[in-house]
Order: sequence, then C-alpha cells, then structure tokens
Amino acid sequence: METRNWIGGSWSTPADSQVEVYNPSDLQEKIGTVNQGGREDVLKAVEEAKSAQKKWAQKTGAQRAEVLYNMATALEENLVQLAELGSREMGKPIGEMKGEVTRGIHLLRYYAGEGVRPEGTVIPSSDVDVLQYSKKVPLGLVGLITPWNFPVAIPVWKMAPALICGNAVIWKPAENAALTATRMIELFEAAGVDSGVLNLVVGKGSIVGKAMLEEADIDGLSFTGSEATGLYVAETCAKRNIKFQTEMGGKNVAVIMKDANLDKTIPIVLSGAFKSAGQKCTATSRIIVESEIYEDVIDRLKKGVEEIQLSHALDNEAYLGPVASKEQYEKVNSYIDLARKEATIVAEKEIDFDQEGYYISPIVITDAPSDHALVKEEIFGPVATVSKAENFEEAINLANDTIYGLSAAIFTENLGHAHKFLDRIEAGMARVNQETAGVEYQSPFGGMKQSSSHSREQGQAALDFYTNTQTCAIKF
Ligand code: NAP
Repeated sequence: METRNWIGGSWSTPADSQVEVYNPSDLQEKIGTVNQGGREDVLKAVEEAKSAQKKWAQKTGAQRAEVLYNMATALEENLVQLAELGSREMGKPIGEMKGEVTRGIHLLRYYAGEGVRPEGTVIPSSDVDVLQYSKKVPLGLVGLITPWNFPVAIPVWKMAPALICGNAVIWKPAENAALTATRMIELFEAAGVDSGVLNLVVGKGSIVGKAMLEEADIDGLSFTGSEATGLYVAETCAKRNIKFQTEMGGKNVAVIMKDANLDKTIPIVLSGAFKSAGQKCTATSRIIVESEIYEDVIDRLKKGVEEIQLSHALDNEAYLGPVASKEQYEKVNSYIDLARKEATIVAEKEIDFDQEGYYISPIVITDAPSDHALVKEEIFGPVATVSKAENFEEAINLANDTIYGLSAAIFTENLGHAHKFLDRIEAGMARVNQETAGVEYQSPFGGMKQSSSHSREQGQAALDFYTNTQTCAIKF
C-alpha cells in the first residue's frame, strides 16, 4: 500500500520524498510506502477547502449529520481491515486497535447527533422591539495535526466535531500512521464526503506541518502530540492570532492507598501502565504507594509483570506488542539504561521471542528520587516508576509534583480519600479505582498545566473549539 494525498476530492501521489514502512512486530514485513508531500500540497488544499467550506457551511446540520453517519458506517463495515492495518503500521495490539476504530464510529455518530441539537441562547434585550440571541458559527478552515499513537480515534475526535460545525478540514497525520490515514480517507470518500471539505496532506511535520502553521490561511488548528511540538504550535498560532488547541504529554500517576482492594487494583494499574506498550498520553507512568503496603504492592507488580506475554500485535490475545518505531525503541531503551545505572529495576520480563521487532519488556523501577528524569520526564513506553508515600498528604504532594496534568487515578476503598483526591489533584482527568486511561468519548478530554492549552476535546467541549460565538440582535 502507498499513501496518497486527497485534496479537493482528487487523489494525488506526492513525490517530494518516500519512506518505506515496516511492521514493528516483524521487521521483515514491509507494509507500504509513505509518499511525502510538501508546502505546495498544503497551499493547494487551502485553496480547495476554502471554497468547499462555504457550501458545506450552508448545508443544514441534518445534512452534514447524514455525511457523518455515512462515515461511521464506512468505518463499521471495514472495522477489522482498518484495525489490522493500524496494528501492522504502529504495533498496537489488534484488540485495542479494534476498540479504537469502534470509538471512531461512536464519535462520528455522537457528533452527527449534535448536528440537530438546539444550540445558542436567547438573551433578553433592554429594548422590547429587539430579539437578541447568540449562536455558534463555524471557524472556517481548520488544520488538524495528529500523532501516531491513536491513528484513528484522535483524528476522528477532531474531524467529526469540526465537520458537523460546518468547517472544512486539512488533516496532516503523523508519518508513522499515514497508511492508516490514507485508508481512512478512502473509506470516507466512498461514504460520500463532499469534495474539498476534508483534505489529507501526508508529509513530514517539519515541512507539511510547518507550512500549515506558518503559511496556510487557516482559521483554527487542533494539535495532539509532544510537548516540544505543541509549544511551537501554540507560539506560532498565537502570533498569527489563529484559534488553537494543543493536547500534549503526560506523566500520569496511580496512587495506591493502604485501604485499596489490591486484588482489583493491581491488574488495573498494570493495564494502565503496559497496554499499548505504555504509548498512550494517559498511560500510568508513576505509581505512588502508601508505605504500609509498599512491599506487598511491589511483589504483586513483579508477579503481574511475569504473567504478561509479549506478542505480535496481530495476535488476537495480544496484551503487550512492540513499541511503534525505531525512534521509540531507542528512546525508551535509553531510559531503561538510565534506570539500570541510577535506580533499581524490580520487575522485568525476559524477551524470548522469535520475531525481530521493537519489543521492550514491561519494566517497573524503584529507588528513583522524586526529581530524577525517570520520574519527571514522559518516557512513553512500557515503563513505570514506584515511589513510597507515608500518608495521603505525602501521596497527593508527590502526585502533583510534575509539570504535567493530564490524567491521575487513586485506588482506595475510602470515599473520603477519593473526594480529597478529586479535590486536590492537578489533572484534567481524575479517576477513582480506574485506569488513568479510558475516558469516554462523550466526556471532555484534556489536561492541565503543561499537558494542554486548556481547551477540551470530545463531548460538548469540542463544539466550542470548532466554533465562534455570534451575538445577533434583530429589530423591526
Ligand atoms: P510529535 O512528534 O509532536 O508529532 C505529532 C504531530 O506533529 C505529527 O503529525 C508530526 O508529524 C507533527 N509535527 C512534528 N514536528 C512538527 C512541526 N515542526 N510542525 C508541525 N507539525 C509537526 O508527537 P508524536 O511522537 O507523534 O506523539 C507522541 C506524543 O503525543 C506524546 O508526547 C504523547 O503524550 C502525545 N499525545 C498526547 C495526547 C493528548 O491528548 N494529550 C494524545 C496522544 C498523544 P511527523 O510525524 O511527520 O513528524
């Protein structure tokens, strides 16, 4: 398979440069080629999208909803095929990849429903002859820049609200997920998305992404990815006065209190840390344990890690597959090397596996001081640190001792602790007795502190981002 651009309803194969794609679960398997476009493709997409948006915005919400329902059906009819491609391309276990496509279907149907929901407010006027009200109007043309780790769900949770609100979209997917992106757009074309309303431009972030940010005449930009890129996105959009949102990294914490039900807690914490090989922005990467149960928790984590099987991502039972790329493999291993030198690895699994792929053992680290890079920096791999806290007060202070504020969880049977945690934790998503990952599609999603530019995705909140508020007053 090869990637293509879809601009103004036409397919093209850019030839600026090419990258061969290999399956991270089995490096012998070549799965396709990414044909990278350049700034001209972005500028052409802007031209096409601008005129398409005007017609799209004039359609009724119900008409736009019809298109989103068709897009959902297209994903549903091709769920397994698309999930398999995603698993092959970036190594996410097939069960999770199917879950992700299913989430995309739910998101499309959810936002299709929003097309016919009443919105706006009637505001009493001080003049009896005036009818005054506010309504939402589309931003116009929005750029979407997405990461590789959720190749279907994240693009859909941006494009579905953008489209239903009457915007046109230019989407630049991550290079590591561009095959899946191309297939998705093929499905959406077949579903009857209007020409030019949704455009795909594949290419390097430093070229296509940069052109989108610095040159394209866009009215809004939604970005998900690393902190470094996100801060550049924020600065560039702020200078151009373009509405933007950035969702970035996390260093998500699971706090385990001595009153937690450990039989239930440990499998949830392990799943939060190691599913998707820890490559979720909401993955659990720090575990804070009340000192009385510390040794017990360490023993249970060790046993849990022993039971985790590493598998090819297409294995139906896969729990932990490879990491997504050579860059990921090298980056995560550099942190593991650091842990071997400067901390203690208490749980690790021997990799006894035939296939050559980017496999990394699940790793549990102790004895890393609270200011150590292992505790402070986002590793984005199957690696979690464990720290001890004497009591709730110390636990919450340690939990908040991070520049990030994406997701956090407490495990406790004490409702008082749960309330206090929800009251004091500095995280956009705060959970009790649940994984740090797993926020539902109808709920606001986003972070505090350095994890986000503080607007929210998903649910009703996304509709605010993709619209402007217009205040109208009519007098006859
Ligand atoms: P990344 O390197 O920042 O890339 C994200 C996107 O930005 C990609 O499409 C990338 O394109 C593009 N990009 C890179 N440099 C750019 C530039 N100079 N100008 C414009 N665009 C540019 O992040 P990633 O490695 O793909 O994703 C992992 C990160 O995403 C982690 O930090 C994770 O926590 C975060 N994440 C956050 C959330 C959330 O909702 N908070 C969700 C998922 C992931 P190329 O791929 O072509 O370089």
